[in-house]
Amino acid sequence: MSLSEYAGKMANAPDCPVCGERGVPILYGLPTRVAREAAGAGKVRLFGCVVPAEPDQWSCRQSHTWRADDDEVLLAAIEAALKR
Ligand SMILES: [Zn+2]
Repeated sequence: MSLSEYAGKMANAPDCPVCGERGVPILYGLPTRVAREAAGAGKVRLFGCVVPAEPDQWSCRQSHTWRADDDEVLLAAIEAALKR
């Protein structure tokens, strides 16, 4: 995927309701190498294996977390972040 395609998919990512920073998707579970690389590039946040009952879906650079209730946008953003 080209950078502009990636940027297009991420354009739907919600802004943080607290500080207005662009959200990045939160990934739960054991991280794969691809997931660790995406996290290193700031495209996703890794939150480990323990998934809370009401898991937050997005995080910003200020470490606020929130749910957006739009799974389609979330899945597209995760897919875009992990594709290369
Ligand atoms: Zn924030």
